[in-house]
Amino acid sequence: THFGYQQVDEAEKAQKVADVFSSVAQRYDLMNDLMSGGLHRLWKAFTIAQSGVREGSRVLDVAGGTGDLSLAFAKKAGKSGQVWLTDINNAMLTRGRDRLCDKGFVVPVAQCDAEKLPFPDDYFDVVTVAFGLRNMTHKDKALAEMRRVLKPGGRLLVLEFSQVWKPLAPFYDFYSFQVIPRLGQLIVKDPDSYRYLSESIRVHPDQETLKGIMEQVGLEKVEYFNLTMGVVALHRGYKY
Ligand code: SAM
Repeated sequence: THFGYQQVDEAEKAQKVADVFSSVAQRYDLMNDLMSGGLHRLWKAFTIAQSGVREGSRVLDVAGGTGDLSLAFAKKAGKSGQVWLTDINNAMLTRGRDRLCDKGFVVPVAQCDAEKLPFPDDYFDVVTVAFGLRNMTHKDKALAEMRRVLKPGGRLLVLEFSQVWKPLAPFYDFYSFQVIPRLGQLIVKDPDSYRYLSESIRVHPDQETLKGIMEQVGLEKVEYFNLTMGVVALHRGYKY
């Protein structure tokens, strides 16, 4: 049946995502710097600035991986706050937890699927997902879960690759499909994982479509900011 195929596809996608991140976990941060020319640090800095996280905030970092955002939030939220680093992948999560520990921050960590978050309703002031949403099988379900765990008045931030400004598209495609897999080969000996990442960027919803999905799951005042000519977009929405 059609449904049967869909189930196989979904299981395959989830397995592929698990393989990709288990394979790249050890050198993930180096690859991020190389592939983005360090730009991912600026994109994350912008996200942190828009988050409104302050002393005492309760923050959930979904698909937090090696913990760049969690670290910044832990510094801002202080001892009276709470920052949860979560991810579906054990290798990424372990690396994230160790990195934060090395820098003197011990945060609670949970291995979980964004589509089924193990937290009560109305709990967090801020929920973030950076470069994770495009890997999720049911993006609407994951976004609805993120909304569920937000307090009324809380905000969701989604940082993700998006649709680049049209005139740049040929160069961007060349970079994604020719340069990135070669970097993957050179640094992690795994060009396929990076080919998958480039493909997942191409099929991810564009700025307006993602805004629509966020509104459909009940987020309000949704807006987005294009960064680096739309290579990346930060979407922000509120729960009321
Ligand atoms: N947020 C980190 C950052 O910005 O550097 C890590 C981003 S990494 C590209 C994507 C992460 O999404 C991986 O660690 C992966 O395990 C995680 N992920 C994929 N599918 C997920 C899901 N369904 N639920 C939770 N995490 C997921």
